[in-house]
Amino acid sequence: MNSTEKLRDIIKNSSDIVFFGGAGVSTESNIPDFRSSQGLYEIKNNYKHAPEVMLSHSFFKKHTEEFFQFYKEKMIYRNAKPNKAHYSLAKLEEIGKLKAVITQNIDGLHQEAGSKNVIELHGSVHRNYCIKCKKSFGLDYIMNSNKVIPHCDECSSVVKPDVVLYEEALNMDVINKAIYHVRNAEVLIIGGTSLVVYPAASLVQYFNGKHLILINKTTTDYDNRASLVIYDSIGKILGEVI
Ligand SMILES: [Zn+2]
Repeated sequence: MNSTEKLRDIIKNSSDIVFFGGAGVSTESNIPDFRSSQGLYEIKNNYKHAPEVMLSHSFFKKHTEEFFQFYKEKMIYRNAKPNKAHYSLAKLEEIGKLKAVITQNIDGLHQEAGSKNVIELHGSVHRNYCIKCKKSFGLDYIMNSNKVIPHCDECSSVVKPDVVLYEEALNMDVINKAIYHVRNAEVLIIGGTSLVVYPAASLVQYFNGKHLILINKTTTDYDNRASLVIYDSIGKILGEVI
């Protein structure tokens, strides 16, 4: 059996699958990973600060206008469409095999593809809220605001994206939900992440099931613990198998 057949076999025999995905899932929808060398290179040439600085909580507080400029230009990809990975996972959930998608991405493409139980560790660009009265707003409100900084239509305070910035803590309820699903999964498929960024690596520690499957273009520190490792595109592999 080759590795694609093995993966198909494992999926066929389980109804307790959880998927954990990183930036690689979105890059296949042409959303650049600003942590990758190519993304960083471009940003370094056009902006005064590194992305980690511009996407930090203190930068948001002190340089709100510059934050939104960068955020709207580099973090929002409104024309991006779900790829085969997103659609395959939505299908697996629909037929009752997949219990949850845990993602580090903030683009909402899993929901667009039809996934229902999506745990967004770093938040979502589609949710935004007023920092004072907490009124919530969609992405359109942020993007169509005639000023760079979006303001609440009730109380005029700044509207902040519900995205976890550098220096900000992850939401504990979200983390606990992710841990719950990883802990109870029989099969954990991890794709498009090199598993070095917190909390990805620590989440894997909770897995106690039968099959850990890694699908990534490069090696990770967890390759020797996995029952199956496939070095390939996540969209291509899931598209072929499901
Ligand atoms: Zn408000």
